[in-house]
Amino acid sequence: MPFPDMDERVVEARGRVAAAVGRGGHGQDVTLVAVTKTHGPAAVAAAWNAGIHDIGENRVQEALAKMEAVEVPVRWHLIGHLQRNKVRSLDQFALFHALDSQRLANAVDRFGRQRERAIDALLQVNVAGEDTKGGLAPDEVRSEAERLVGMSGVRICGVMTMAPYGASEGVLRATFGGAREAASILREVGHPAHQLSMGMSEDFEVAVEEGATIVRLGTYLFGARAR
Ligand SMILES: *Cc1c(COP(=O)(O)O)cnc(C)c1O
Repeated sequence: MPFPDMDERVVEARGRVAAAVGRGGHGQDVTLVAVTKTHGPAAVAAAWNAGIHDIGENRVQEALAKMEAVEVPVRWHLIGHLQRNKVRSLDQFALFHALDSQRLANAVDRFGRQRERAIDALLQVNVAGEDTKGGLAPDEVRSEAERLVGMSGVRICGVMTMAPYGASEGVLRATFGGAREAASILREVGHPAHQLSMGMSEDFEVAVEEGATIVRLGTYLFGARAR
């Protein structure tokens, strides 16, 4: 059986998350999203059997193919960039984490209105200002939030961010704190922005201390990826 120690990994992750909630003092509920990219459908089944019901994929094609092969009724999260000509695929996902530009927001809104049900999405914010990552700059959040209020086809449920790889604890806290601040701006403007999707295998404990409500774990649960 693939991933034989999945139950232990999940129990350990939940324990670490609970301890981090205690240290951080935000008192939030935290959803674990198992990131199955590069792994086959067996990874999804293993996560499900260990009690994880939320699965994250960063590429649409890979995700859609995996959905075909998976029997269990998981909630699918699209955590990576989406091309504007693929917005229809959002129909297959419970939450889109990577609303990363105005033009994409326009396309998502248009599709949400077309299907007559708003798309649940998180605004991706590039808090650390890395060239290699997508998302809005923190100083663009307020004006974009005001623009998004008028869009009935998309519901902004919160913020997603990624910290720089290998960052110091200080940079991690500044990054995750910046995302928390962006979410509070969204709420001020009138969005139901209660979700903070932040924290990956290397940094999820600090993210949870800083208020993460969704953590995205790949390597921690499944081991190293082939690509
Ligand atoms: C791959 C990926 C993750 C998981 O990364 P790990 O370090 O393996 O936990 C989380 N979020 C996004 C957006 C990813 O692409």
